Amino acid sequence: MTKLDFLSELGIEDMNLGGYSDNWLGSGDDLDCITPVDGTLIAKVKQCNSDDYENILQKSTDIFKKWRMEPAPKRGEVVRNLANAFREHKTALGKLISWEMGKIQAEGEGEVQEMIDIADYAVGLSRQLYGKTMHSERPNHRMYEQWHPLGAVGIVTAFNFPGAVWAWNAMIAAVCGDVMVWKPSSKTPLTAIAIQKIVNDVMTPLGWDGVMSLLVGSSRDVGELLVNDRRMPLISATGSCNMGRKIGGAVAKRLGRSLLELGGNNAIIVMPDSDPELILRAVLFGAVGTSGQRCTSTRRLFLHKSISSSIIEKLIASYSQIKIGDPLNSDTLVGPLVDGKAVQDYVDAIEIIKKEKGKILYGGNVMQMDGFYVEPTLVKANMGMNIVREETFAPILYLFEFEDLNEAIEAHNSVDQGLSSSIFTKDMQSVEKFLSHSGSDCGIANVNIGTSGAEIGGAFGGEKDTGGGREAGSDSWKVYMRRQTNTLNWSDDLPLAQGIEFG
Ligand code: NAD
Repeated sequence: MTKLDFLSELGIEDMNLGGYSDNWLGSGDDLDCITPVDGTLIAKVKQCNSDDYENILQKSTDIFKKWRMEPAPKRGEVVRNLANAFREHKTALGKLISWEMGKIQAEGEGEVQEMIDIADYAVGLSRQLYGKTMHSERPNHRMYEQWHPLGAVGIVTAFNFPGAVWAWNAMIAAVCGDVMVWKPSSKTPLTAIAIQKIVNDVMTPLGWDGVMSLLVGSSRDVGELLVNDRRMPLISATGSCNMGRKIGGAVAKRLGRSLLELGGNNAIIVMPDSDPELILRAVLFGAVGTSGQRCTSTRRLFLHKSISSSIIEKLIASYSQIKIGDPLNSDTLVGPLVDGKAVQDYVDAIEIIKKEKGKILYGGNVMQMDGFYVEPTLVKANMGMNIVREETFAPILYLFEFEDLNEAIEAHNSVDQGLSSSIFTKDMQSVEKFLSHSGSDCGIANVNIGTSGAEIGGAFGGEKDTGGGREAGSDSWKVYMRRQTNTLNWSDDLPLAQGIEFG
Protein backbone atom coordinates (compact mmCIF):
# COMPACT_ATOMS: atom_id res chain seq x y z
CA MET A 1 0.00 0.00 0.00
CA THR A 2 1.56 3.34 -0.99
CA LYS A 3 1.14 6.22 1.33
CA LEU A 4 -2.35 7.35 0.25
CA ASP A 5 -3.72 4.09 -1.19
CA PHE A 6 -6.05 3.84 1.78
CA LEU A 7 -8.22 6.54 0.16
CA SER A 8 -9.06 4.34 -2.80
CA GLU A 9 -9.62 1.27 -0.61
CA LEU A 10 -12.16 3.29 1.38
CA GLY A 11 -13.67 4.78 -1.81
CA ILE A 12 -13.49 8.36 -0.65
CA GLU A 13 -11.16 9.82 -3.30
CA ASP A 14 -14.00 11.55 -5.12
CA MET A 15 -16.44 11.71 -2.24
CA ASN A 16 -17.29 15.30 -1.51
CA LEU A 17 -20.74 15.08 0.06
CA GLY A 18 -21.09 15.08 3.80
CA GLY A 19 -24.55 13.77 4.60
CA TYR A 20 -26.19 10.41 4.12
CA SER A 21 -29.58 8.90 4.79
CA ASP A 22 -30.55 6.71 1.85
CA ASN A 23 -28.50 8.76 -0.57
CA TRP A 24 -25.62 11.21 -0.30
CA LEU A 25 -26.54 14.78 0.53
CA GLY A 26 -24.79 18.07 1.03
CA SER A 27 -26.47 21.24 -0.14
CA GLY A 28 -24.61 23.59 2.19
CA ASP A 29 -21.26 25.34 2.14
CA ASP A 30 -17.90 23.71 1.41
CA LEU A 31 -15.78 22.57 4.33
CA ASP A 32 -12.00 22.59 3.88
CA CYS A 33 -10.26 19.48 5.19
CA ILE A 34 -6.65 20.10 6.18
CA THR A 35 -4.25 17.38 7.25
CA PRO A 36 -2.29 18.30 10.38
CA VAL A 37 0.56 16.13 9.04
CA ASP A 38 1.80 18.95 6.79
CA GLY A 39 -0.95 21.57 6.95
CA THR A 40 -2.14 21.09 3.33
CA LEU A 41 -5.69 21.09 1.99
CA ILE A 42 -6.65 17.47 1.25
CA ALA A 43 -10.35 17.69 0.40
CA LYS A 44 -13.43 19.85 0.30
CA VAL A 45 -16.64 18.41 1.66
CA LYS A 46 -20.13 19.73 0.93
CA GLN A 47 -21.83 20.18 4.28
CA CYS A 48 -25.49 19.67 5.10
CA ASN A 49 -27.93 22.51 5.50
CA SER A 50 -31.32 22.60 7.22
CA ASP A 51 -33.12 20.98 4.24
CA ASP A 52 -30.68 18.07 4.28
CA TYR A 53 -31.16 17.83 8.02
CA GLU A 54 -34.92 17.55 7.63
CA ASN A 55 -34.53 14.94 4.93
CA ILE A 56 -32.25 12.82 7.12
CA LEU A 57 -34.45 13.14 10.19
CA GLN A 58 -37.56 12.14 8.24
CA LYS A 59 -35.88 9.01 6.86
CA SER A 60 -34.57 8.09 10.31
CA THR A 61 -37.90 8.40 12.06
CA ASP A 62 -39.60 6.42 9.25
CA ILE A 63 -37.15 3.50 9.33
CA PHE A 64 -37.29 3.44 13.16
CA LYS A 65 -40.84 2.08 12.96
CA LYS A 66 -39.49 -0.99 11.13
CA TRP A 67 -36.10 -1.35 12.88
CA ARG A 68 -37.62 -1.37 16.38
CA MET A 69 -39.73 -4.39 15.45
CA GLU A 70 -36.74 -6.42 14.22
CA PRO A 71 -35.84 -8.90 17.00
CA ALA A 72 -32.80 -7.68 18.93
CA PRO A 73 -30.65 -10.77 18.10
CA LYS A 74 -31.37 -10.11 14.39
CA ARG A 75 -30.22 -6.52 14.88
CA GLY A 76 -27.15 -8.08 16.49
CA GLU A 77 -26.50 -10.03 13.28
CA VAL A 78 -26.48 -6.78 11.31
CA VAL A 79 -23.96 -5.37 13.80
CA ARG A 80 -21.85 -8.53 13.43
CA ASN A 81 -21.60 -7.76 9.69
CA LEU A 82 -20.48 -4.24 10.54
CA ALA A 83 -17.77 -5.63 12.86
CA ASN A 84 -16.50 -7.83 10.03
CA ALA A 85 -16.46 -4.91 7.61
CA PHE A 86 -14.47 -2.81 10.11
CA ARG A 87 -12.02 -5.73 10.44
CA GLU A 88 -11.59 -5.85 6.67
CA HIS A 89 -10.76 -2.13 6.48
CA LYS A 90 -8.83 -1.81 9.75
CA THR A 91 -5.50 -0.76 8.25
CA ALA A 92 -6.95 1.67 5.71
CA LEU A 93 -9.29 3.28 8.23
CA GLY A 94 -6.50 3.49 10.80
CA LYS A 95 -4.31 5.29 8.27
CA LEU A 96 -7.08 7.71 7.35
CA ILE A 97 -7.59 8.56 11.03
CA SER A 98 -3.83 9.26 11.34
CA TRP A 99 -3.80 11.38 8.24
CA GLU A 100 -6.90 13.38 9.11
CA MET A 101 -6.35 14.08 12.83
CA GLY A 102 -2.68 13.26 13.43
CA LYS A 103 -2.53 10.36 15.89
CA ILE A 104 0.15 7.78 15.00
CA GLN A 105 -0.92 4.87 12.83
CA ALA A 106 -0.67 2.31 15.66
CA GLU A 107 -3.18 4.42 17.62
CA GLY A 108 -5.32 4.93 14.50
CA GLU A 109 -5.54 1.17 14.03
CA GLY A 110 -6.08 0.76 17.78
CA GLU A 111 -9.08 3.04 17.42
CA VAL A 112 -10.54 0.85 14.68
CA GLN A 113 -9.91 -2.18 16.91
CA GLU A 114 -12.01 -0.43 19.54
CA MET A 115 -14.81 -0.08 16.97
CA ILE A 116 -14.55 -3.82 16.27
CA ASP A 117 -14.51 -4.67 19.98
CA ILE A 118 -17.61 -2.63 20.79
CA ALA A 119 -19.44 -4.12 17.80
CA ASP A 120 -18.56 -7.66 18.99
CA TYR A 121 -19.71 -6.71 22.47
CA ALA A 122 -23.00 -5.36 21.07
CA VAL A 123 -23.64 -8.62 19.20
CA GLY A 124 -23.58 -10.52 22.52
CA LEU A 125 -25.56 -7.78 24.22
CA SER A 126 -28.33 -8.18 21.63
CA ARG A 127 -29.32 -11.37 23.50
CA GLN A 128 -28.96 -9.85 26.97
CA LEU A 129 -31.20 -6.77 27.13
CA TYR A 130 -32.65 -8.09 30.35
CA GLY A 131 -35.44 -6.65 32.45
CA LYS A 132 -36.29 -7.70 36.02
CA THR A 133 -39.29 -9.60 37.35
CA MET A 134 -40.60 -8.42 40.73
CA HIS A 135 -43.01 -10.00 43.20
CA SER A 136 -46.32 -8.18 43.22
CA GLU A 137 -47.91 -7.42 46.62
CA ARG A 138 -51.27 -8.41 45.13
CA PRO A 139 -52.32 -12.05 44.71
CA ASN A 140 -52.33 -13.49 41.19
CA HIS A 141 -50.56 -10.50 39.76
CA ARG A 142 -47.32 -10.44 37.88
CA MET A 143 -44.98 -7.46 37.72
CA TYR A 144 -41.97 -7.00 35.53
CA GLU A 145 -40.05 -4.38 33.59
CA GLN A 146 -39.05 -4.41 29.97
CA TRP A 147 -36.81 -2.23 27.84
CA HIS A 148 -38.06 -0.74 24.58
CA PRO A 149 -36.13 1.06 21.84
CA LEU A 150 -35.98 4.80 22.47
CA GLY A 151 -36.10 6.33 18.97
CA ALA A 152 -33.68 8.54 17.06
CA VAL A 153 -30.39 9.20 18.86
CA GLY A 154 -28.27 12.23 17.97
CA ILE A 155 -24.57 11.41 18.25
CA VAL A 156 -22.25 14.43 18.43
CA THR A 157 -18.58 13.44 18.41
CA ALA A 158 -15.20 15.06 19.14
CA PHE A 159 -12.27 15.13 16.71
CA ASN A 160 -9.85 13.09 18.83
CA PHE A 161 -11.64 9.76 18.46
CA PRO A 162 -13.25 10.31 15.07
CA GLY A 163 -14.45 6.69 14.74
CA ALA A 164 -14.50 5.02 18.15
CA VAL A 165 -16.81 7.47 19.93
CA TRP A 166 -19.42 7.05 17.23
CA ALA A 167 -19.04 3.26 17.42
CA TRP A 168 -19.41 3.18 21.24
CA ASN A 169 -22.78 4.84 20.77
CA ALA A 170 -23.93 3.48 17.44
CA MET A 171 -23.23 -0.23 17.96
CA ILE A 172 -25.04 -0.29 21.31
CA ALA A 173 -27.90 1.94 20.16
CA ALA A 174 -28.35 -0.25 17.07
CA VAL A 175 -28.89 -3.48 19.01
CA CYS A 176 -31.18 -1.55 21.36
CA GLY A 177 -33.38 -0.84 18.32
CA ASP A 178 -32.66 2.87 17.94
CA VAL A 179 -31.80 4.75 14.77
CA MET A 180 -29.06 7.34 14.87
CA VAL A 181 -27.94 10.56 13.26
CA TRP A 182 -24.22 11.28 13.57
CA LYS A 183 -22.83 14.80 13.61
CA PRO A 184 -19.03 14.35 13.57
CA SER A 185 -16.50 17.04 14.37
CA SER A 186 -15.92 19.38 11.43
CA LYS A 187 -12.20 18.62 11.91
CA THR A 188 -12.68 14.96 10.91
CA PRO A 189 -15.42 14.63 8.26
CA LEU A 190 -13.45 12.26 6.00
CA THR A 191 -13.20 9.52 8.61
CA ALA A 192 -16.96 9.87 9.18
CA ILE A 193 -17.67 9.65 5.44
CA ALA A 194 -15.43 6.57 5.09
CA ILE A 195 -17.21 4.89 8.01
CA GLN A 196 -20.63 5.78 6.63
CA LYS A 197 -19.60 4.21 3.30
CA ILE A 198 -18.68 0.99 5.12
CA VAL A 199 -22.03 1.13 6.94
CA ASN A 200 -23.87 1.59 3.63
CA ASP A 201 -22.09 -1.37 2.03
CA VAL A 202 -23.38 -3.54 4.87
CA MET A 203 -26.81 -2.04 5.57
CA THR A 204 -28.14 -1.17 2.09
CA PRO A 205 -28.26 -4.75 0.75
CA LEU A 206 -30.04 -5.75 3.97
CA GLY A 207 -32.68 -3.04 3.50
CA TRP A 208 -31.57 -0.99 6.50
CA ASP A 209 -30.70 2.30 4.83
CA GLY A 210 -31.39 5.21 7.17
CA VAL A 211 -30.80 3.31 10.44
CA MET A 212 -27.39 5.00 10.67
CA SER A 213 -27.16 8.43 9.05
CA LEU A 214 -24.45 11.02 8.72
CA LEU A 215 -24.77 14.77 9.03
CA VAL A 216 -21.58 16.72 8.35
CA GLY A 217 -22.17 20.37 9.12
CA SER A 218 -21.35 23.16 11.52
CA SER A 219 -22.71 23.20 15.05
CA ARG A 220 -24.48 26.46 14.18
CA ASP A 221 -26.15 25.22 10.97
CA VAL A 222 -27.10 21.66 11.85
CA GLY A 223 -25.72 20.82 15.32
CA GLU A 224 -28.19 23.08 17.06
CA LEU A 225 -31.11 21.79 14.96
CA LEU A 226 -30.27 18.31 16.18
CA VAL A 227 -29.89 19.29 19.80
CA ASN A 228 -33.17 21.21 19.90
CA ASP A 229 -35.22 18.65 17.98
CA ARG A 230 -37.94 16.98 20.09
CA ARG A 231 -37.95 14.04 17.64
CA MET A 232 -34.54 13.11 19.15
CA PRO A 233 -35.22 11.66 22.61
CA LEU A 234 -31.49 11.22 23.33
CA ILE A 235 -28.49 13.37 22.46
CA SER A 236 -25.16 11.72 23.17
CA ALA A 237 -22.50 14.41 23.01
CA THR A 238 -18.74 14.02 23.40
CA GLY A 239 -16.51 17.08 23.54
CA SER A 240 -15.38 19.96 25.71
CA CYS A 241 -17.05 20.99 28.97
CA ASN A 242 -18.15 24.23 27.29
CA MET A 243 -19.94 22.32 24.57
CA GLY A 244 -21.52 20.08 27.24
CA ARG A 245 -22.89 23.07 29.13
CA LYS A 246 -24.55 24.38 25.97
CA ILE A 247 -25.91 21.07 24.71
CA GLY A 248 -26.86 19.77 28.16
CA GLY A 249 -28.78 22.99 28.85
CA ALA A 250 -30.59 22.98 25.50
CA VAL A 251 -31.64 19.32 25.77
CA ALA A 252 -32.77 19.75 29.40
CA LYS A 253 -34.89 22.73 28.34
CA ARG A 254 -36.99 20.48 26.10
CA LEU A 255 -36.91 17.73 28.78
CA GLY A 256 -34.91 15.41 26.54
CA ARG A 257 -32.24 12.99 27.70
CA SER A 258 -28.55 13.74 27.26
CA LEU A 259 -25.47 11.59 27.66
CA LEU A 260 -22.49 13.88 28.17
CA GLU A 261 -18.86 12.74 27.80
CA LEU A 262 -16.76 15.85 28.42
CA GLY A 263 -13.26 17.03 29.27
CA GLY A 264 -10.89 15.55 31.83
CA ASN A 265 -7.96 16.68 33.96
CA ASN A 266 -6.53 13.30 34.74
CA ALA A 267 -3.83 12.53 37.26
CA ILE A 268 -1.53 9.77 38.47
CA ILE A 269 -0.43 9.56 42.10
CA VAL A 270 2.96 7.87 42.53
CA MET A 271 3.76 6.35 45.93
CA PRO A 272 7.33 5.66 47.13
CA ASP A 273 7.03 1.87 46.78
CA SER A 274 6.00 1.89 43.10
CA ASP A 275 7.95 0.43 40.20
CA PRO A 276 9.73 3.29 38.32
CA GLU A 277 9.78 1.36 35.02
CA LEU A 278 6.00 0.92 35.05
CA ILE A 279 5.51 4.56 35.94
CA LEU A 280 7.67 5.81 33.10
CA ARG A 281 5.85 3.71 30.54
CA ALA A 282 2.41 4.65 31.87
CA VAL A 283 3.23 8.35 32.06
CA LEU A 284 4.75 8.43 28.61
CA PHE A 285 1.75 6.76 26.98
CA GLY A 286 -0.69 8.81 29.05
CA ALA A 287 0.91 12.23 28.64
CA VAL A 288 2.33 12.25 25.10
CA GLY A 289 0.19 9.56 23.39
CA THR A 290 -2.16 11.12 20.79
CA SER A 291 -0.07 14.27 21.45
CA GLY A 292 -1.93 14.77 24.73
CA GLN A 293 -5.27 14.89 22.89
CA ARG A 294 -7.10 12.08 24.65
CA CYS A 295 -9.90 12.89 27.06
CA THR A 296 -8.03 10.55 29.43
CA SER A 297 -4.54 11.98 28.76
CA THR A 298 -2.42 12.28 31.90
CA ARG A 299 -2.19 15.99 32.68
CA ARG A 300 -1.05 15.95 36.32
CA LEU A 301 1.54 13.75 38.03
CA PHE A 302 1.71 13.72 41.83
CA LEU A 303 5.10 12.37 42.93
CA HIS A 304 5.98 11.39 46.47
CA LYS A 305 8.78 13.65 47.69
CA SER A 306 11.16 10.74 48.32
CA ILE A 307 11.19 9.63 44.67
CA SER A 308 10.27 12.84 42.89
CA SER A 309 13.71 13.92 41.64
CA SER A 310 14.71 10.48 40.35
CA ILE A 311 11.44 10.07 38.43
CA ILE A 312 11.70 13.57 36.99
CA GLU A 313 15.26 12.87 35.85
CA LYS A 314 14.14 9.69 34.10
CA LEU A 315 11.16 11.46 32.53
CA ILE A 316 13.36 14.21 31.08
CA ALA A 317 15.68 11.56 29.63
CA SER A 318 12.71 9.72 28.05
CA TYR A 319 11.14 12.91 26.69
CA SER A 320 14.40 13.82 24.95
CA GLN A 321 14.23 10.58 22.95
CA ILE A 322 10.64 10.91 21.71
CA LYS A 323 10.42 10.88 17.92
CA ILE A 324 8.05 13.58 16.74
CA GLY A 325 6.85 13.77 13.13
CA ASP A 326 4.70 12.22 10.41
CA PRO A 327 2.22 9.94 12.23
CA LEU A 328 2.20 7.55 9.27
CA ASN A 329 5.91 6.76 9.76
CA SER A 330 6.29 3.67 11.90
CA ASP A 331 9.10 5.06 14.08
CA THR A 332 7.12 8.19 15.06
CA LEU A 333 5.83 8.25 18.63
CA VAL A 334 4.17 11.65 18.64
CA GLY A 335 2.32 13.22 15.71
CA PRO A 336 0.98 16.75 15.29
CA LEU A 337 -1.80 18.57 17.12
CA VAL A 338 -5.03 18.66 15.18
CA ASP A 339 -4.87 22.23 13.83
CA GLY A 340 -3.47 25.73 14.14
CA LYS A 341 -5.92 26.65 16.89
CA ALA A 342 -4.67 23.74 19.00
CA VAL A 343 -1.10 25.02 18.54
CA GLN A 344 -2.24 28.49 19.62
CA ASP A 345 -3.90 27.00 22.73
CA TYR A 346 -0.56 25.31 23.56
CA VAL A 347 1.35 28.57 23.06
CA ASP A 348 -1.16 30.46 25.23
CA ALA A 349 -0.88 27.82 27.96
CA ILE A 350 2.93 28.05 27.96
CA GLU A 351 2.66 31.84 28.33
CA ILE A 352 0.31 31.47 31.31
CA ILE A 353 2.60 28.81 32.87
CA LYS A 354 5.49 31.27 32.70
CA LYS A 355 3.38 34.10 34.14
CA GLU A 356 2.20 31.85 36.97
CA LYS A 357 5.82 30.92 37.74
CA GLY A 358 5.64 27.28 36.71
CA LYS A 359 9.06 25.90 35.84
CA ILE A 360 9.39 24.38 32.35
CA LEU A 361 11.70 21.39 32.74
CA TYR A 362 11.46 20.16 29.19
CA GLY A 363 9.90 21.41 25.90
CA GLY A 364 7.60 24.42 25.71
CA ASN A 365 8.17 25.23 22.02
CA VAL A 366 6.36 24.98 18.72
CA MET A 367 8.40 22.96 16.25
CA GLN A 368 9.67 24.64 13.13
CA MET A 369 8.27 22.25 10.53
CA ASP A 370 5.23 22.04 8.22
CA GLY A 371 2.11 20.86 10.06
CA PHE A 372 1.08 21.47 13.65
CA TYR A 373 3.86 20.05 15.81
CA VAL A 374 4.76 21.04 19.37
CA GLU A 375 7.26 19.73 21.90
CA PRO A 376 5.91 17.47 24.64
CA THR A 377 6.39 19.52 27.78
CA LEU A 378 7.15 18.89 31.44
CA VAL A 379 6.32 21.60 33.99
CA LYS A 380 7.12 21.73 37.71
CA ALA A 381 3.91 23.20 39.10
CA ASN A 382 1.75 23.77 42.15
CA MET A 383 -2.02 23.53 42.57
CA GLY A 384 -2.16 27.27 43.24
CA MET A 385 -1.65 27.87 39.50
CA ASN A 386 -4.90 28.43 37.59
CA ILE A 387 -3.67 26.83 34.38
CA VAL A 388 -3.29 23.38 36.01
CA ARG A 389 -7.05 23.36 36.62
CA GLU A 390 -7.80 23.64 32.92
CA GLU A 391 -7.72 20.98 30.25
CA THR A 392 -5.23 22.22 27.64
CA PHE A 393 -5.61 19.69 24.82
CA ALA A 394 -1.84 19.32 24.21
CA PRO A 395 1.08 17.27 25.60
CA ILE A 396 1.75 19.35 28.71
CA LEU A 397 2.35 17.42 31.94
CA TYR A 398 2.28 19.21 35.32
CA LEU A 399 4.46 17.71 38.08
CA PHE A 400 3.65 18.10 41.78
CA GLU A 401 5.34 16.86 44.95
CA PHE A 402 3.50 15.52 47.99
CA GLU A 403 4.38 13.99 51.35
CA ASP A 404 1.14 12.39 52.48
CA LEU A 405 -1.43 10.44 50.42
CA ASN A 406 -4.40 12.31 51.95
CA GLU A 407 -2.88 15.58 50.79
CA ALA A 408 -2.34 14.14 47.28
CA ILE A 409 -5.92 12.86 47.03
CA GLU A 410 -7.27 16.23 48.14
CA ALA A 411 -5.21 18.05 45.50
CA HIS A 412 -6.15 15.41 42.95
CA ASN A 413 -9.89 15.91 43.57
CA SER A 414 -9.74 19.69 43.76
CA VAL A 415 -10.24 20.27 40.01
CA ASP A 416 -13.61 20.66 38.28
CA GLN A 417 -13.26 17.64 35.98
CA GLY A 418 -13.59 14.00 37.14
CA LEU A 419 -12.79 11.58 34.34
CA SER A 420 -9.79 9.29 34.91
CA SER A 421 -7.29 8.76 37.72
CA SER A 422 -4.69 6.28 38.89
CA ILE A 423 -2.33 5.36 41.69
CA PHE A 424 0.97 3.47 41.47
CA THR A 425 1.76 1.52 44.62
CA LYS A 426 2.09 -2.01 45.99
CA ASP A 427 0.73 -0.99 49.37
CA MET A 428 -2.75 -2.35 50.07
CA GLN A 429 -3.77 0.47 52.42
CA SER A 430 -2.87 3.12 49.83
CA VAL A 431 -4.81 1.25 47.13
CA GLU A 432 -7.90 0.92 49.29
CA LYS A 433 -7.73 4.54 50.42
CA PHE A 434 -7.51 5.70 46.80
CA LEU A 435 -10.50 3.53 45.82
CA SER A 436 -12.59 4.27 48.93
CA HIS A 437 -15.55 6.70 49.22
CA SER A 438 -13.07 9.40 50.26
CA GLY A 439 -10.58 8.51 47.53
CA SER A 440 -10.57 9.41 43.83
CA ASP A 441 -13.75 11.22 42.75
CA CYS A 442 -13.38 10.19 39.09
CA GLY A 443 -15.49 7.87 36.94
CA ILE A 444 -12.37 5.79 36.30
CA ALA A 445 -9.86 4.90 39.04
CA ASN A 446 -6.96 2.57 38.16
CA VAL A 447 -4.20 0.89 40.12
CA ASN A 448 -0.76 0.40 38.59
CA ILE A 449 -1.93 1.32 35.10
CA GLY A 450 -2.15 4.81 33.62
CA THR A 451 -5.14 7.07 33.08
CA SER A 452 -5.67 6.40 29.37
CA GLY A 453 -6.47 3.34 27.27
CA ALA A 454 -9.75 2.07 28.77
CA GLU A 455 -11.29 -1.25 27.73
CA ILE A 456 -14.77 -1.26 26.22
CA GLY A 457 -16.18 -3.80 28.72
CA GLY A 458 -16.45 -1.26 31.54
CA ALA A 459 -18.76 1.75 31.70
CA PHE A 460 -16.75 4.72 30.43
CA GLY A 461 -17.24 8.30 31.60
CA GLY A 462 -16.66 10.77 34.40
CA GLU A 463 -18.18 12.89 37.15
CA LYS A 464 -18.45 16.62 37.90
CA ASP A 465 -17.78 18.78 34.83
CA THR A 466 -17.00 15.65 32.81
CA GLY A 467 -20.77 15.37 32.55
CA GLY A 468 -21.75 12.17 34.39
CA GLY A 469 -22.50 10.10 31.26
CA ARG A 470 -21.50 6.46 30.80
CA GLU A 471 -20.90 4.73 27.49
CA ALA A 472 -19.66 1.35 26.23
CA GLY A 473 -19.86 -1.68 28.54
CA SER A 474 -21.51 -2.71 31.83
CA ASP A 475 -25.15 -1.52 31.86
CA SER A 476 -24.53 1.65 29.79
CA TRP A 477 -27.00 0.29 27.21
CA LYS A 478 -29.90 1.31 29.44
CA VAL A 479 -29.57 4.97 28.47
CA TYR A 480 -30.38 4.04 24.86
CA MET A 481 -33.70 2.41 25.82
CA ARG A 482 -36.90 3.33 27.61
CA ARG A 483 -37.96 1.32 30.65
CA GLN A 484 -41.52 0.17 31.10
CA THR A 485 -42.99 -1.40 34.23
CA ASN A 486 -45.82 -3.83 33.52
CA THR A 487 -48.31 -5.20 36.06
CA LEU A 488 -50.59 -8.03 34.92
CA ASN A 489 -53.64 -9.16 36.84
CA TRP A 490 -54.65 -12.79 36.18
CA SER A 491 -57.11 -12.98 39.13
CA ASP A 492 -60.89 -12.45 39.02
CA ASP A 493 -60.65 -9.53 41.42
CA LEU A 494 -59.31 -5.96 41.30
CA PRO A 495 -57.25 -5.47 44.50
CA LEU A 496 -55.63 -2.05 44.81
CA ALA A 497 -52.03 -1.46 45.83
CA GLN A 498 -51.36 -0.41 49.46
CA GLY A 499 -54.54 -2.29 50.45
CA ILE A 500 -56.76 0.69 49.55
CA GLU A 501 -60.49 -0.01 49.58
CA PHE A 502 -62.25 2.26 47.12
CA GLY A 503 -66.03 2.37 46.90
P1 NAD B 1 -15.63 20.40 20.97
O1 NAD B 1 -16.38 20.63 22.21
O2 NAD B 1 -14.98 21.56 20.31
O3 NAD B 1 -16.57 19.71 19.86
C1 NAD B 1 -17.17 18.45 20.06
C2 NAD B 1 -18.35 18.29 19.13
O4 NAD B 1 -19.42 19.13 19.57
C3 NAD B 1 -18.08 18.70 17.68
O5 NAD B 1 -18.73 17.80 16.81
C4 NAD B 1 -18.70 20.08 17.60
O6 NAD B 1 -19.06 20.45 16.29
C5 NAD B 1 -19.93 19.88 18.48
N1 NAD B 1 -20.54 21.09 19.03
C6 NAD B 1 -19.94 22.11 19.69
N2 NAD B 1 -20.87 23.02 20.10
C7 NAD B 1 -22.07 22.57 19.68
C8 NAD B 1 -23.41 23.05 19.79
N3 NAD B 1 -23.69 24.21 20.40
N4 NAD B 1 -24.42 22.31 19.26
C9 NAD B 1 -24.16 21.12 18.65
N5 NAD B 1 -22.91 20.63 18.50
C10 NAD B 1 -21.87 21.33 19.01
O7 NAD B 1 -14.53 19.27 21.31
P2 NAD B 1 -13.29 18.75 20.45
O8 NAD B 1 -12.22 19.80 20.42
O9 NAD B 1 -13.77 18.17 19.16
O10 NAD B 1 -12.80 17.52 21.35
C11 NAD B 1 -11.98 17.65 22.47
C12 NAD B 1 -12.79 17.61 23.75
O11 NAD B 1 -13.58 16.44 23.82
C13 NAD B 1 -11.88 17.55 24.98
O12 NAD B 1 -12.42 18.39 25.97
C14 NAD B 1 -11.95 16.09 25.39
O13 NAD B 1 -11.63 15.85 26.73
C15 NAD B 1 -13.37 15.77 25.07
N6 NAD B 1 -13.57 14.34 24.91
C16 NAD B 1 -14.22 13.68 25.93
C17 NAD B 1 -14.38 12.30 25.84
C18 NAD B 1 -15.06 11.54 26.95
O14 NAD B 1 -15.45 10.41 26.71
N7 NAD B 1 -15.23 12.10 28.13
C19 NAD B 1 -13.93 11.60 24.71
C20 NAD B 1 -13.29 12.32 23.70
C21 NAD B 1 -13.12 13.69 23.82
